[in-house]
Amino acid sequence: MVVGGGVLGTMHAWMARRRGFEVVHLEREPEPRGASVRNFGLVWVSGRRAGPELALALRARELWEQIGAEAPGIGFRPAGSLTLACDEAELRVLREAAGLPDAGQREFELLDPDGVRAVNPALRGSFLGGLYCRADAVVEPRLALPALRAALAGPGYAWLPGTEAAEAAAHGVRDQSGTWHRGDLVVLCTGANLAGVAGPHLAATPHSLRRVRLQMMQTAPFPGRLATAVADGDSLRYYPAYDVPGRSLLPPQPPAAAASRAQLLLVQRADGALTIGDTHSYDEPFAFDVDEDAYDHLRARAEALLGAALPRVRRRWAGVYSEVAGASGLYHRSAVAPGVVLVTGPGGRGMTCSPAIAEETFSS
Ligand SMILES: Cc1cc2nc3c(=O)[nH]c(=O)nc-3n(C[C@H](O)[C@H](O)[C@H](O)COP(=O)(O)OP(=O)(O)OC[C@H]3O[C@@H](n4cnc5c(N)ncnc54)[C@H](O)[C@@H]3O)c2cc1C
Repeated sequence: MVVGGGVLGTMHAWMARRRGFEVVHLEREPEPRGASVRNFGLVWVSGRRAGPELALALRARELWEQIGAEAPGIGFRPAGSLTLACDEAELRVLREAAGLPDAGQREFELLDPDGVRAVNPALRGSFLGGLYCRADAVVEPRLALPALRAALAGPGYAWLPGTEAAEAAAHGVRDQSGTWHRGDLVVLCTGANLAGVAGPHLAATPHSLRRVRLQMMQTAPFPGRLATAVADGDSLRYYPAYDVPGRSLLPPQPPAAAASRAQLLLVQRADGALTIGDTHSYDEPFAFDVDEDAYDHLRARAEALLGAALPRVRRRWAGVYSEVAGASGLYHRSAVAPGVVLVTGPGGRGMTCSPAIAEETFSS
C-alpha cells in the first residue's frame, strides 16, 4: 500500500514493483497537485552538503537516469547546470567550491565568461564566470508522475485516485468511504500535510518538521535553447555545498531578494518554456496570494544573465514542501504502526532524492 501520489509515493510504488510486490496506490486528489508537480524538476547534485546528502543525491541521480530509460516520458535530461557569479565575492565562492575535495563527484568545472557561453550560448548577459556542474539533470515535473504510472500500469499495480487515507492501523489504512486497504507494508507519503492521517502520529512523536513556501513562474516558450539549468549567485547563500570561507564575504542581497529570500533558478522545459523561481517563506500562516516584488526581482535577474527579455509569463504559482530541520537527517522516516511507515520531509531536495529515499525504505 502506498498513500500519496507525489514523487515520493510514486517512487515507493516503483521500487516496490521492482522488488516483486503488488502495489495499491492511493491518492486523495483526481491527480496529484502537491510539491512534486510544482517544482523545477531539478535533479540537483551541485548544491548538496558533502557526505550523506551528496551520496544520496548521487545515488538518486543514477536511479533517475535508469528510470528515464524505462519511462522516457519523465523527460530525464543530463543537462548539467551553470551557477553564475556577477561579482568578485561570488566568483571567489565558485573558485573555492571548484577546489572542494568532492568537486570531482559533482563534476564541477570553473569557467570564464567565454567558457560559460561555449557550454550555454543562450547566456548572452553579463557575468564574471560560472561553475559548471555536469552531474545535475532535469526531469519534467508536470509529466513525470503520469509517465511513471503509465510505466507501472498492468497486473500488480492499482492506481486509486480520489481515495483519501483517513486512518492508519497495523498493516492497513481506511479510506474516506470506510473501506480498509491492507498490505504487508503501508508507506505513507503524504507530503507537506502535517495533519490528516499522519497527524496523530506526528503530534505524538517529537519531530522537527517545518514547512516552506516558494513562489514560481513559467514563461511562454523562449526563442532559443538553454543547454543547461542556470542559477545565480544568490543560490550560493542557500545551498550547503557553498559553505566555504568566501561565503562570509558575500555582500547583502538586494532588498527585494532579501525580503523574499530569493535565489534565481532557471530551467527550460521540454516545450521551450522557462520555469523561474524561487523564494522562501517559513512563517505560517502562509500568504494565499503571490507577491509581485519577488517576481520583479527574479525577472530582472534572469534577463540580466540571458541578455534578453523574457517571454510573457504564462503561469505563476506557489508550492509548499516540508523539511526536517537542523541535524535531524535528510528526511523523516518513522514507524506509525506495525507494518506502516511514514516517509516525508525531504525539503527542497525531494524531487532529486526521491528514488534513493524509496530504495532506502526497502533496504531499511
Ligand atoms: C516550488 C518548489 C520547487 C521545488 N523544486 C525542487 C527541485 O527542483 N528539485 C528537488 O529536488 N526538489 C524540489 N522541490 C522539493 C520537492 O518538490 C518535494 O520535496 C517533493 O515533491 C515532495 O514529494 P512528496 O511526494 O513528499 O509530496 P507531494 O508532492 O506534496 O505529494 C504528496 C501527495 O500525497 C497526497 N496525500 C496527502 N494526504 C493524503 C491522504 N491522506 N490520502 C491520500 N493521498 C494523500 C497529496 O494529495 C499529494 O498528491 C521543490 C518544491 C517546491 C514546492
